[in-house]
Parts: sequence; structure tokens; C-alpha cells
Amino acid sequence: MAEPRDLTSDAADVASWWQRHGLPGLFDVHVHFMAPRVQRAVWEVFDSAGPKVGRPWPIRYRLADEDRVELLRTMGVRRFSALSYAHKPGVAEFLNDWARDFAARVPESLWSATLYPEESAPGYVGELIAAGVEIFKVHVQVGDFHLNDPLLDPVWGLLEDAGTPVVIHVGSGPVANAFTGPEPLRRVLASYPRLRVIVAHMGAPEYLEFLELAERYPEVRLDTTMVFTEFFSEASAAYPSELLPRLHDLGDRVLLGTDFPTIPYPYLHQLEALEGLDLGEQWLRSVCWDNGAKLFGETRSATPPRDR
Ligand SMILES: [Zn+2]
Repeated sequence: MAEPRDLTSDAADVASWWQRHGLPGLFDVHVHFMAPRVQRAVWEVFDSAGPKVGRPWPIRYRLADEDRVELLRTMGVRRFSALSYAHKPGVAEFLNDWARDFAARVPESLWSATLYPEESAPGYVGELIAAGVEIFKVHVQVGDFHLNDPLLDPVWGLLEDAGTPVVIHVGSGPVANAFTGPEPLRRVLASYPRLRVIVAHMGAPEYLEFLELAERYPEVRLDTTMVFTEFFSEASAAYPSELLPRLHDLGDRVLLGTDFPTIPYPYLHQLEALEGLDLGEQWLRSVCWDNGAKLFGETRSATPPRDR
């Protein structure tokens, strides 16, 4: 675990980064908070570098919830999700109850929830939507299920009608299985073309296929989580440079995501990796604040008027 001193400087580095870019703070759509018992189990999976992870993964921000919230505040991450994900039937409602309490006590967090293909899903998803939940997370690579499971059909319909964003990890990274890849999402979107999907990790490593989906469906967005970092490049998930012009043109649908706290490098590294793409200040500001703010109804603008 990093020394507290290191984390203080991590926070200062992040704050000076966004200040330098004229942002009001950061909007991070891919942050994890989950019931402590579940969080410990997830970290054990990363610690063991087991088959879902595939490589050593030292967790930099392994702290108690309240310390992590405090760190995000010091960094200036002014809005963030608190994503859990169900890995088997029967656990989503427990995770969602915990996440609901978390959202109630941490005002800058997005009220987050998860779902699983199970008979009860349309019921609890419908109730959460009616109550004002702001974002869902689905993790196909961990959950081992098909996005096209018929049990999910009514759920996609509910989410599409409500316009509630859903972060979906369905790319084949870090380790592929029978359920990952672009095809399952392609089929969901063919039936639910207005579904507000946020493709986690930009779909790594199938960047081209998921970029094409975003180009085709106006409600599909990509989150930057871990993409462009040295850690991903070393794991042969480097972003193809020939796609960068298309990613630039899609600048209003790329959202900052980081995977905080379960990352093996300082938070700043994700920001510098984005900056290093050289896609322009406007692009960077949209990704790090404006796009998230617009999607989740936060009105503070990152863009100084003279730049518009
Ligand atoms: Zn994640």
C-alpha cells in the first residue's frame, strides 16, 4: 500500500492538472465503490492475478471508503460514479441497497446500481429507475453471461425508455471469454438502438469495433478507463493510432473513466495519457468534464466562453 504522503502528492498533482486546463474539476464516470465485503473479495481476485485478471495488478488506492471519498474530493473529482457489479444471480439487490445508501451519504457521487440476467431484474431495475437512479453497471467479463440473454430484454427496454446510462464491460480485456467482444452489444443495439450505453475501457482491445458502434448509434459513448496508459500498452491493449482522428471527431461522446481505486498507477497517469494524445484542449475539456456534466445534468461548464 502506498504511504499516505504519496497519496497527498497524488491529489495535489491531479488538482493542479485540471486547474491548468481551466476545468471546474473532473467528472469521472468509472469509479468503484461497493459493499466492503464485496470490495475485499474483488481485490483478492486482483491480488491473486487470477484468470480474470491475467497479470500482477498492484492496487494503488486500497483505502477505506471514507478515505477514498476524501481523496477524490482533494483531487477535485467533483462528480463520480460508484459502480458495483453482480457476478452471479441473487446479489444485485444487496449491492444496490448498499449503493443507494452510499449515494445518499456522498452527494457528489452518481447513484449507481447493477443488474444481472435473472427473473427479478425487471422489477428492481424498474423500481430504481422510478426512484431516480443515475447509472447502471454491467460486467460481462466477470459475470459470465450473454448480453442477449432473453431475461435482459425487458431490462434493456426499461433503460432505453428511461435514458438511464449503463456502463457495460463487454470488451475482451483483460482476459476474453465466451461472452465478451463486440457482437453481443451489436445485437442488443440492433433491438434497442436508443440504449444509452457507455462502453467501458472503450471496448479494449476491440477498439475499432466499439468505435464503429459509437459512430453508428448516437447514444453510445466510450469511457477512457485505463486506455492509453502504459499499463494497457504493455498488456498489448495499445490504442491504434490510426483511430485517433475518428476518436477526435467523436469528442462529445468520450467520457473520462479511471477505475479508481483499483489501478496500479497514480490517477494523474490517466489524465496525462489523455493529454498526450494531442487531440486539443477542447477535446480534453469535453472528455474530462463537459460530456459527463451534460449527460448527468450538471450545468457547470468547463469551457471558458471565449473559447466557444
Ligand atoms: Zn471498472
